[in-house]
Amino acid sequence: MSDCIFCKIANGEIQSDIVFEDDKVIAFRDLNPQAPIHILIITKQHFDNILSMDSSQSALLSHLYFTAANIARQEGIADAGFRLVLNCNALGGQSVAHIHVHLLGGRQMHWPPG
Ligand code: AMP
Repeated sequence: MSDCIFCKIANGEIQSDIVFEDDKVIAFRDLNPQAPIHILIITKQHFDNILSMDSSQSALLSHLYFTAANIARQEGIADAGFRLVLNCNALGGQSVAHIHVHLLGGRQMHWPPG
């Protein structure tokens, strides 16, 4: 989508601190980190959020999460522990309408999340 900030990151129009990329997903550091490690993993194809996907995107959604887990290993936070967060719509705290998984780590997480 032409006015989507994450599409612009995915196509290189906007600079970001990219930590991983393949033909389907891209991962980059969050501009406003909420933990020592805070990385966003997005699909290159635009979906507003998980409600815009269906079962035909099962493999892609799975790839998004396994990529997040692999990046946790790459960042050295896998064994200590980390959190994956997917916000959806306004009450879910979603501010960017392009599906993304937050990878948060490097500190103790708390429950329930705010
Ligand atoms: P959410 O609130 O779940 O939609 O998360 C959106 C995230 O995108 C927030 O954590 C923002 O800090 C982050 N963000 C917004 N713009 C950028 C950007 N240009 N580069 C990196 N992270 C961004």
